Amino acid sequence: KKLEGLDSIRGDFPVLAREVDGRTVNYLDSAATTLKPQSVIDAVTRYYTEFTANIHRGRHRLSEEASDRYEEARYKVALLTNSASNEVIFVRNTTEAINLANHCIGLTKDDFVVCCLDNHHSHFLPWLRHGNVVLVEQTEEMQPDLEHFAELLKLKPKVVALTHCSNVTGNYIPLDVMSKMAHEAGALVVVDAAQSAAHRKLNFSESYIDFLAISSHKMLGPSGIGCLIGKADLLRDGEPMLVGGGVVDYVTADSYQYRKLPHKYEAGTPAIEASYGFGAAIDYLESIGFDRIEAHEKQLSKAFIESINNKPNLACLGQMSLENRAPIFSLYVKGVSDLSDICRALSDSYGVMCRNGHLCAQPLVDHYAGGQVIRMSAYIYNTVDEIEAALEALNSVVQSYV
Ligand code: PMP
Repeated sequence: KKLEGLDSIRGDFPVLAREVDGRTVNYLDSAATTLKPQSVIDAVTRYYTEFTANIHRGRHRLSEEASDRYEEARYKVALLTNSASNEVIFVRNTTEAINLANHCIGLTKDDFVVCCLDNHHSHFLPWLRHGNVVLVEQTEEMQPDLEHFAELLKLKPKVVALTHCSNVTGNYIPLDVMSKMAHEAGALVVVDAAQSAAHRKLNFSESYIDFLAISSHKMLGPSGIGCLIGKADLLRDGEPMLVGGGVVDYVTADSYQYRKLPHKYEAGTPAIEASYGFGAAIDYLESIGFDRIEAHEKQLSKAFIESINNKPNLACLGQMSLENRAPIFSLYVKGVSDLSDICRALSDSYGVMCRNGHLCAQPLVDHYAGGQVIRMSAYIYNTVDEIEAALEALNSVVQSYV
């Protein structure tokens, strides 16, 4: 089936040309990491072939060129997320971004933190380790219960830790409403946008979000780089997690002075080549445009929902509506508890690459699905045919278990 305007993009992703045991790859694991277009791969390679030098250290030409391109990538992130470039801190990934936000905020043992049940471990453990976590109850549709949320805000939490889009259900929360409520209650709002940044346009400056975390590798970019985007005044007041080369203006035998934002938070040599790839990924996303991405994803989600509805042994976690969702679907198989063999069979006999387990959201998956699901997650390069074929394959494999 041809998907309007997007049928040509598959050719940009070299992994899709690969075969595994003679079968074409049906990649349905984009929530774990997206595939990379050739332009991203080329941008990474260019660091090694044209610009190899350390950044922000030297006055020689190569170092200056390398530094300019690194800063250009930061500028692209700022434009993409509507933030100021000194608010964009490069880190390794979303996990590090959230740990850094946590460190910057500096919880005491008496502080309350409101979390949602669907928070990824990356957005749960840093808060659980240092604060008193209270969880928002969920509605029957697995959305945060806003009345309960309002009650919890009366506890005057220091932090509200929200996940824009769940990596399990693919559902978006009402982020604007919840972050405004949290802000009005005096809490700092920390948002995990790992699963949304490649799907929806984020607008940091015009939001009530104080800290926003993203990973390049979930946005068509390389692994090893992500961002913490934070309100400048909070970042200025906060302490970096790491100190060392690159973070100071001067050092004496017994004192030091931090550099200005964002450098204060970027100790040591960063993932320079990954920043170039991240910049190229953002160019690629912008060239497609979020409107087309959303329209395409709706077709993919529709295919998932229709195919699942036709298969009585399969059920799905979360809302099965087309609205407010990314094409991420977590399935449980009625009567089957160990899903790893099923996942392996899908890969080895059908070329379908998907994931099973608790998806690093164990409290949620334990509560709703007895600890395990199979997750299929699609993105711009997937077709309706691939989704229908994957669910047919899953159905066939499941027949031999039930
Ligand atoms: N939050 C969510 C919602 C995620 O899906 C993931 C990745 N599975 C993470 C955080 C962690 O991202 P990373 O591994 O890039 O740190």
